[in-house]
Amino acid sequence: MQMTLEHQQIYDTTKKFVETELNPHVREWEKAGFWPAHEVLKKMGALGLLGISKPESVGGLGLDYSYQVAFAEALGFCTCGGVPMAIGVQTDMATPALARFGSDYLKDNFLKPAVAGEMVAAIAVSEPGAGSDVAGIKTTARKVGEEYIISGSKLWITNGTQADWACTLVNSAEGDRHGNKSLIVVPLDAKGIERNQKLDKLGQRSSDTAMIFLDEVRVPARNLIGVEGKGFSYQMQQFQEERLFLSASIIAAMERVIDDTAAYTRQRQAFGQSILDNQYVHFRLSELKTEVEALRALTYRATSELIAGRDAALLCSMAKLKSGRLGREVTDACLQFWGGQGYMWESSVAQFYRDLRLHSIGGGADEVMLGIISKRLGYGGKRKST
Ligand SMILES: Cc1cc2nc3c(=O)[nH]c(=O)nc-3n(C[C@H](O)[C@H](O)[C@H](O)COP(=O)(O)OP(=O)(O)OC[C@H]3O[C@@H](n4cnc5c(N)ncnc54)[C@H](O)[C@@H]3O)c2cc1C
Repeated sequence: MQMTLEHQQIYDTTKKFVETELNPHVREWEKAGFWPAHEVLKKMGALGLLGISKPESVGGLGLDYSYQVAFAEALGFCTCGGVPMAIGVQTDMATPALARFGSDYLKDNFLKPAVAGEMVAAIAVSEPGAGSDVAGIKTTARKVGEEYIISGSKLWITNGTQADWACTLVNSAEGDRHGNKSLIVVPLDAKGIERNQKLDKLGQRSSDTAMIFLDEVRVPARNLIGVEGKGFSYQMQQFQEERLFLSASIIAAMERVIDDTAAYTRQRQAFGQSILDNQYVHFRLSELKTEVEALRALTYRATSELIAGRDAALLCSMAKLKSGRLGREVTDACLQFWGGQGYMWESSVAQFYRDLRLHSIGGGADEVMLGIISKRLGYGGKRKST
């Protein structure tokens, strides 16, 4: 992946949007534990930012995924992690399978409005009894006439309290755990849905996260994405975009944390010199900057594989693993150099210490990434994993 002038334009437009439309509100949204998804996404849709790699037929820009990575990277200029994550759900987690396999009916009624920012989307895979083990989900969809009747519960669903629809993974048959699943677009105002419970989180506080109960929810059969029984495989494909988005979207946040730490430690004095003047401190910050640059290179390389149409699961998983681990390393090391000030809730380093911690868990935990990497390298792992 090369950053061309066109990539730079998307990057600059996104960065400007982040700085003018998101950052001034971050404190208020973090306090409220909520971001106004409909309002923000409508503005982003008007700028063409929600369908960069979606086809022009649904209002997208029809560009390859490298442009989406430029967008994700620029979202990293947000002064919190929760809002970029929630935007990524709309652009890279809930909609890739719909764009790839959805019928014209589904694209017209759910994808187009998501690209325009008129509808908010969620991805509903995880459940109380199954997160890492995606194939172990228990939510069922029985086909009765021209409808699916869906029952079960979904946990930790980002945008869950305000989304209009959720790309939902269900068991549509008995039998083989990897061949019995389907992805269904579930309108979240349907009868039988309850989602009142907003969850209280360690970080990413501005994004709303919900538990969603589905009790005999009737959904038209035409809301099935693609072919019945292919849901597991569609979701595994969709995870590649999710994981690249997650990797790219925290690069600038980590750079901000390192730069803020250099600035803070430069003016803070101890033992007759600035904290930054200690070789240990400036060497460590330099090393972390180098690591972030290496993550950027890995993310771009994984993106190149994806846009070349090759199997990118190995490199996407490596990028996701590295980004989760590095997010923890950067924020932990930097917080230390701030001393007591870093431990204060409002400090920028504490914000990202809380927010980036999720990246080793969500979208496939580090250990799940290691499972995929090991399997792809032939080192072990019989499990058909995410
Ligand atoms: C804030 C937040 C937002 C989220 N948003 C969404 C969303 O929008 N949609 C959605 O579907 N899900 C969402 N999730 C769920 C997320 O994807 C899961 O939390 C994640 O996949 C891990 O699943 P789990 O929490 O059930 O952990 P478990 O599966 O219970 O695993 C717990 C831990 O065990 C370890 N582990 C697991 N498997 C292995 C293994 N094979 N070998 C060694 N160790 C292992 C890992 O360290 C893992 O963290 C969100 C979660 C959070 C916290």
